[in-house]
Amino acid sequence: MAEKQARVGYDDTPMLPGSKWRVHDAERPQPRVVTPGTFGSQELPGRPPSDAIVLFDGSDASGWVGRDGGPVRWKVENGYMEVTRTGNIQTRAHFGDCQLHIEWAAPAKVRGDSQGRGNSGVFLTGKYEIQVLDGYENPTYADGITAAIYGTYPPLVNACRRPGEWQTYDIVFVAPRFEEDRLVSPAFITVIHNGVLVHHCREALGPTGHRRLPSYDEPHGPTGPLMLQDHGDAVRYRNIWVRPIRGCDE
Ligand code: MG
Repeated sequence: MAEKQARVGYDDTPMLPGSKWRVHDAERPQPRVVTPGTFGSQELPGRPPSDAIVLFDGSDASGWVGRDGGPVRWKVENGYMEVTRTGNIQTRAHFGDCQLHIEWAAPAKVRGDSQGRGNSGVFLTGKYEIQVLDGYENPTYADGITAAIYGTYPPLVNACRRPGEWQTYDIVFVAPRFEEDRLVSPAFITVIHNGVLVHHCREALGPTGHRRLPSYDEPHGPTGPLMLQDHGDAVRYRNIWVRPIRGCDE
């Protein structure tokens, strides 16, 4: 009997604190099976894991809306979409706590400098910006460089590739929680840029602003659209997918 139990778990071990499960509990549900994706290359994007919600597959932008809720007027061709000075775009679906993967490329032909060079942005819930910028040998204020949590935290390192090269962000976002007007828990953001950790569970100070201190003075819901910024530069995006975080005890 003991041998059989040892193969599949135990029923006589200590209870884990704050949990209904024992150490090595035989009854504890197995994790869901997910087929992992693949990594991409400069030529081709990777493939999403099997349980991801694909937001942009390189050709279909129907899950997005442009300015005033109308159709997206960014260029969609050759497996990417490109900013065309027609305004920000955002997903029809709303997301809160999630894992997000997104690939982008700044224009190969360098124009402008500082914040005027390859500027765009990834806005979680439409409010919290991870800066997209051509930050390759392009000095600007530190909390506005590529992968910054804009206006608050520079990335731990500058992991930029050269202009025109595809780059990846893998982001873990935990939305803030409010009760009535009171902040219960702030947003937490983790970002991996081109495979390099640049923010580890940073506590956001509030929705992103420009030249002002972010704050949680205006409560908002736990979900919102994923928004991509049109800052006037022809930044490209491909292979965008999200995995909502469904809770730790699933
Ligand atoms: Mg930006």
